[in-house]
Amino acid sequence: MATSGPSVQDSPAPYAQVWVEAGREGQVFTYANPAALPLAPGDLVQVSLRGRRHTGLLVALLEAIPADVPATGLQPIEARSQPAALDPAWQQWMASVADQCHTSLFRTLKAALPAGWLGQRPQRAPARPRQRWWVERGVAAGSEGALTERQQALLDHLDRQGGGRRLDQLCGEDGFSRAVLKGLESRGLLSRRPIEPGDSTERLGSCPEPSPDASFVPPALTAAQAEAVTRIAAAPDGAELLLWGVTGAGKTEVYLRAVAAELERGCHALVLAPEIGLVPQLLDRFRQRFPSRVLEYHSGLGDAERLRAWRTALAARGGGPLVVIGTRSAVFLPLQPLGLIVLDEEHDSSYKQDSPMPCYHAREVARLRIAQQGGRLLLGSATPSLETWWRARPEGEVQLLTLPERIGSRPLPPVRVVDMRHELAEGHRRLLSRALIGRLEALQERGEQAVVLVPRRGYHTFLSCRSCGEAVVCPHCDVSLTVHRVGPRQWLRCHWCNHRQELGDRCSHCGSTAYKPFGAGTQRVMEQLMTELEGLRVLRFDRDTTRGRDGHRRLLERFSAGEADVLVGTQMLAKGMDLPRVTLAAVLAADGLLHRPDLRASEQALQLLLQLAGRAGRGDRPGEVLVQTYTPEHPVISHLVDGRYGRFLEQELALRRAASLVPFQRACLLRLSGPAASITATAAAALAERIRPQVSAATWWLLGPAPEPVARVAGRSRWQILLHGPGDSPLPLPPEAELRRALPAGVGLTIDPDPLQL
Ligand code: ADP
Ligand code: ZN
Ligand code: ZN
Repeated sequence: MATSGPSVQDSPAPYAQVWVEAGREGQVFTYANPAALPLAPGDLVQVSLRGRRHTGLLVALLEAIPADVPATGLQPIEARSQPAALDPAWQQWMASVADQCHTSLFRTLKAALPAGWLGQRPQRAPARPRQRWWVERGVAAGSEGALTERQQALLDHLDRQGGGRRLDQLCGEDGFSRAVLKGLESRGLLSRRPIEPGDSTERLGSCPEPSPDASFVPPALTAAQAEAVTRIAAAPDGAELLLWGVTGAGKTEVYLRAVAAELERGCHALVLAPEIGLVPQLLDRFRQRFPSRVLEYHSGLGDAERLRAWRTALAARGGGPLVVIGTRSAVFLPLQPLGLIVLDEEHDSSYKQDSPMPCYHAREVARLRIAQQGGRLLLGSATPSLETWWRARPEGEVQLLTLPERIGSRPLPPVRVVDMRHELAEGHRRLLSRALIGRLEALQERGEQAVVLVPRRGYHTFLSCRSCGEAVVCPHCDVSLTVHRVGPRQWLRCHWCNHRQELGDRCSHCGSTAYKPFGAGTQRVMEQLMTELEGLRVLRFDRDTTRGRDGHRRLLERFSAGEADVLVGTQMLAKGMDLPRVTLAAVLAADGLLHRPDLRASEQALQLLLQLAGRAGRGDRPGEVLVQTYTPEHPVISHLVDGRYGRFLEQELALRRAASLVPFQRACLLRLSGPAASITATAAAALAERIRPQVSAATWWLLGPAPEPVARVAGRSRWQILLHGPGDSPLPLPPEAELRRALPAGVGLTIDPDPLQL
């Protein structure tokens, strides 16, 4: 028995307190350490709780069992799954994020850490060895009949992967269906074989990093870029900067230089994009500049890859500096020291998570991070959000850097508005105006390309009954179904819950058989373009055609390689692409963007349209923008034409000030969802009464409860309570747990501070 001897610190502690998932807040329990594992606070450990397996967070080591814990029957810590997963500074920052999002630290940690790292672990079925398959190009040479678009895409994809790929990857992250695979196998164009353990093809699964181009020389900076780079380098720790540069002004080049400076002084850098679709282009540019320093982290990666990236970041603490390219969740990576966070397209609403809790905005989380841990925050946009622009006024807390001109003094493309009422009056009832047809006709001859924005995907946007006027709605949600079509096959689909149904032959309200489809989605526009313009080659870019990890990249590569003349797509088309041959950017139905019942409808519509305009004329040839609308007099359209975004912001700010709205006021949404409308409405009313005294005492207002704009989704009823209050005051709400306790079973609550949709 060792009563004396080596120092106490060296001998592993016999007991530890572990934070385990039990309820939304987690709970701390005492565990024994019979295996004498070398443990420390911040480790993730494997334990059991009530017969279930958990990964918990070790919060403290104990030399003795606490007085209030029974001394017998303590459960053991089974293993240490990750040493030093969390450090105190990181955890303190997470506590501030939890506070800002009005939720528990445990929830916040669970959301920040890679999936499955903390919390209850899935009960595994008894281990059954899993057979893995390797898929490769078959030997069949000729085959009868044309391939479908997806079949061809799969073959092209395999070729790019060197001819083979693991089946689970093909049908998982790459997004191909088993049906497509089977179709090719039956024609002998593909074959599969089992992968033996240790088989070298097993390792071929992941994409190799492109080899650096030794001859690459970065461009000489323009004067405006050079000044921006200098001012970023000179900014102190904790500084925030807004880089406001028109589309094509060379913002990315500024990010590259600022990141290079960080890596040189041994600090990590983080570059965030609002959507996975923008990640590939950034990855390419950063990998070219910083070979083997680039790490990607976003929702398109599988769980295992995200975990690996997280571990790489942990291992790089104080080591060789990294630059991480990712989407909003990458803001949580444990990079230390972190010298710079770049938020590209900072105005984009995808930086905000609306659900589940924590409802965080990556910009606010980054702001907290640099305030606590140092480093600088660089926000970039051609169309900054009103909030950021307001903070960048001369007396505000954000430094303003501007790039007023495009590279090479290329002009911004002029905007031409096509009044669709005239088209109609002159007997043209088609989707495509004569002006647009004329422009598209000339493309091929000139070797130019166009992008065409259509606000909705699908074929028709909805279907309604000619006799009673009712639209066909989703049986689970209060939204109309969208018509989708492939060849002659048509079906209906819900874009909220993914419900699918047959077209049906009569109206469920009145029994009439006369349906009329309304509106045009991306599929219909494609079809229309191909019938009206013979020989025009068109590609579709929307959520349906860009599935899988490389979906965006594959489509953009095909387009930029000249496989098509026109790219038809939804919002994602407008963002960040740099395609020099695109000279025309067109919007088919701008009206769908203008008339939304939302506080930020105008701001977001103008941002989207200006971003879209920014895709045209980035190369040597001048570009043009064509906007089809029924309301050409709308202020958003006139600001789009005059192109002075700053002036729009000034006017918008005056409106917001007069109406006491964001950024002069704060808001918070409490969203409730429950199984039935009556239960949910009653719960919402009771909750409102419960918080009303505290809300009024803080001079905030309470509005509602009211049904949400879409009052039912996936069979659940949705109600909301809106709170409004002075700009910089804290939320006048009791802790989340107390609010939750006041709700009946089955009714869920989401607290969304500073919501983007209002
Ligand atoms: P933004 O991000 O502002 O839209 P990019 O950084 O994509 O603009 O730059 C637009 C184009 O100009 C890119 O093709 C880029 O390589 C090029 N470019 C950027 N800076 C320079 C420069 N200083 N000299 C020459 N070309 C540049
Ligand atoms: Zn009807
Ligand atoms: Zn639905």
